Amino acid sequence: MSDYSRLRERMVKRQIAGRGVRSGLVLDAMRKVPRERFLPRGQRVFAYDDSPLPIGDGQTISQPYIVAYMAESLALEGGEKVLEIGTGSGYAAAVLAEIAAEVYTIERIEGLATLASTALEDLGYTNVHVRCGDGTLGWPEEAPYDGIVVSAGGPDVPDTLKHQLKTGGRLVIPVGRSKAWQELIRVTRVAEEDFQTEDLVPVRFVPLVGEEGWSQEF
Ligand code: SAM
Repeated sequence: MSDYSRLRERMVKRQIAGRGVRSGLVLDAMRKVPRERFLPRGQRVFAYDDSPLPIGDGQTISQPYIVAYMAESLALEGGEKVLEIGTGSGYAAAVLAEIAAEVYTIERIEGLATLASTALEDLGYTNVHVRCGDGTLGWPEEAPYDGIVVSAGGPDVPDTLKHQLKTGGRLVIPVGRSKAWQELIRVTRVAEEDFQTEDLVPVRFVPLVGEEGWSQEF
């Protein structure tokens, strides 16, 4: 077992299972994806730390526990079609790709989208599709989705994303007007125009910038 594999096992045990994530699919996915491969070389030594890390352009790879918690909140059973907004490093997309059949992921910063595509391709993730653009508008050509996960914090839940869910599908998104924290929210589309909303946990994310998000970084 390599040092990274050992650190990954320990991370899953202590940071993920140890904090209450129970989904076997999510735990297995977290055991498989090499987080170090989604980081700039200088950051790899910190890959299994219990924290977000800088990935360039003022953006971050999320804390492993939050990636696992958000994936579990989608309640995937395997084989679904999932949309992620905020590709960042591509790490969360890889975790989702271990569970879902197809993952569509959108990043607004071109350099990050390119680096993420390369990392995902190098690791053989042929079921992840990366696009550069404004994710608040979703990926309408591929809709509807069983699950949508937004990895950046917006002022409100984008209406467009809600309407790209299948009936029964779930959208998980940080929402809040403060830079210091947001509430992680889960929206379930229970019928064509009926959406159920639950507050999950307080979180801290970089801003969701776009037509149905913030107008600029703050
Ligand atoms: N999921 C990522 C990972 O595993 O590395 C972490 C995402 S990082 C916390 C949030 C990302 O959302 C940033 O890369 C940022 O550029 C991106 N972002 C912000 N607003 C966006 C938008 N409207 N559309 C697409 N990406 C956006």
